[in-house]
Amino acid sequence: MNGGGNVPLTVGIDVGGTNIRASVVDGSGEVLDTVTAPTPQSARALEDALARAVRELCARHPIGAVGLAVAGFVDEDRATVRFAPHLPWEDAPVAQRLTDRLGLPVILEHDANAALWAEYRFGAAAGGRNVVLVAIGTGIGAALLISGQLYRGSYGVAPELGHIQVVPQGRACACGKRGCWERYCSGTALVDTALEMLATDPQRSKVLAREALRDPGSLTGRRVAGAAQDGDPVAQDVMTDFARWLGLGLAAVSDIFDPDLIVVAGGVSTSAPLFLDDAREHYAASITGARHRHLARIRTAQLGEAAGMIGAAELARAALEVPHTAVPAHR
Ligand SMILES: [Zn+2]
Repeated sequence: MNGGGNVPLTVGIDVGGTNIRASVVDGSGEVLDTVTAPTPQSARALEDALARAVRELCARHPIGAVGLAVAGFVDEDRATVRFAPHLPWEDAPVAQRLTDRLGLPVILEHDANAALWAEYRFGAAAGGRNVVLVAIGTGIGAALLISGQLYRGSYGVAPELGHIQVVPQGRACACGKRGCWERYCSGTALVDTALEMLATDPQRSKVLAREALRDPGSLTGRRVAGAAQDGDPVAQDVMTDFARWLGLGLAAVSDIFDPDLIVVAGGVSTSAPLFLDDAREHYAASITGARHRHLARIRTAQLGEAAGMIGAAELARAALEVPHTAVPAHR
């Protein structure tokens, strides 16, 4: 008996660059069972590992379908991985290959889309209609829900909000451009901003300065947030700067989409008490015509790292319920 009643159980898999995590999820978003394995480096070995994980779960539960949350470009029919920077797949028809091996329907989804779907069905985005999710970690992952449907663009590419240029000729980004939003508003950015501020006035910070002098590479976003929590003045300035960029960026995004809800997810969101109120003020100050419109609520995510997996499982279940339509009409 599962919490979702007669709704079939499905497997959601978070296919990360380091580990794969596969879970059985019921119709109410509850995770019932999980297996994990390291991510192999070849496509063949990765598909072997995924099939093994699903078979292990199938031996313990009746499974109806499988959903994969992938950090990369997934084509519009959600069957092929076009490109994933940390995975050995390029133009790979992953859904069909796994279906052939497992005898189960398999769908793919961009990981941020999957996370937003999970938050919408079971978490912080419940009740939202037009929702922006920004997952702030090493960079920014983003997803949009428009009129209650995931927005997948024309060619399956999820919104790359993190690479909107906010500073012409600004910090260099791994994408090849300069001044991208995520270079000022991410865990990585917390470190870069801290190092810039420490270089200007190293005496102001006791804790961070000592760490940064010893080994600049050892500083992490989590450490900067921790130092801010402990009262380090430079780290607090770093968080203030981060809040400003978050508010500005979300205001720009809202000027395009006019959402009713914004969900801040990802590793940095666990430090939200250090920046979210500030970010809301910058948001209200930056958005066009703030006094004459409703402002989106800005909330933190509720499902944590499991969101992608739960969302992928839920999307796989939805595909099962519409057996003759591989892709629900989301256009
Ligand atoms: Zn970029």
